[in-house]
Amino acid sequence: MSQLYSYSQYLQNTFGAKTYKIVVASGLTCPTRDGSIAKAGCAFCDVRGSSSFFGKQGRGKSVADQIQKRIPEVRERFGAQKFLAYFQSYTNTYSDIDYLRTIYEAALTHPEVAGLCIGTRPDCIPDPVIDLLEELAERRYVSLELGVQSFEDPTLLWLERGHDGQSSIDALNRLKERAPHVHTCAHLMFGSPPDSRTNPRDSALLLNQLGVKGVKLHQLMILENTELARRWKEKAFHTLSLEEYAEQVLEFVEHLDPSIYLERLCAQATHVDECLAPVWSRERWHPHNVLRSTLEKNGCVQGSKIRNPSSLPA
Ligand code: SF4
Repeated sequence: MSQLYSYSQYLQNTFGAKTYKIVVASGLTCPTRDGSIAKAGCAFCDVRGSSSFFGKQGRGKSVADQIQKRIPEVRERFGAQKFLAYFQSYTNTYSDIDYLRTIYEAALTHPEVAGLCIGTRPDCIPDPVIDLLEELAERRYVSLELGVQSFEDPTLLWLERGHDGQSSIDALNRLKERAPHVHTCAHLMFGSPPDSRTNPRDSALLLNQLGVKGVKLHQLMILENTELARRWKEKAFHTLSLEEYAEQVLEFVEHLDPSIYLERLCAQATHVDECLAPVWSRERWHPHNVLRSTLEKNGCVQGSKIRNPSSLPA
């Protein structure tokens, strides 16, 4: 038996009903795409391959129209009772305050939207943006999904993220101080060749101090049309086997405070034919089952390897 604080349990605790995310395109870009930092995007990123990508048709549509169109599908498919507007692709705080307020308020105005989930980068949340998020979060649910990816600088350089580990620590500390009502979820990626051996444990111990409410984990994937694909084709490098990845997840979870929910333990490639490595990323259930059985075989209890962990939420 393993004990983890799952995302479904967190949503049930927070909303008391089956809650699903509705993906919404904000029309924004990223500093690694518009030339401010770089033009080609982060080395691993294929926005088109992301399940969140809404395409050109979504970017031109109003936020309200996108939500209105998606809710019936999601309600019917998943039996969802409540909905969160999810600004997932690109950097959804990378704009002036007036535009951000307009798109966030447009989503919150929809009568069936229970709150917002906003994906962004650690170097794109200046204090005025944090203050806007806190103002909204004082009256409605707001979750900020922060693409940390790694706290280790050699890995961040290799991924061409355009920020260092300290940027994420600073961003999370500022969110903790200035925006106590915002639920922050950190995204982490395991399996980059420069990762240190202790990366999973160190990342968990750091996150325990930084006030996050949740974590989303994913493995490094080599997707077509990315800088990593170019490098990999030139000279293939090691990507994690499923068993190696499962060991890292186990190590991470055992050092993660039990009050922090785990939204996802691994990712699945959206376009399987465009995933070059690791090939297990093309499958949906097998990785999930191996991860679960590794955690169970090891009697994994979230936070069991830290001193004075909080108890698992009911
Ligand atoms: S990983 Fe995020 S910040 Fe980097 S290019 Fe892709 S969407 Fe933009």
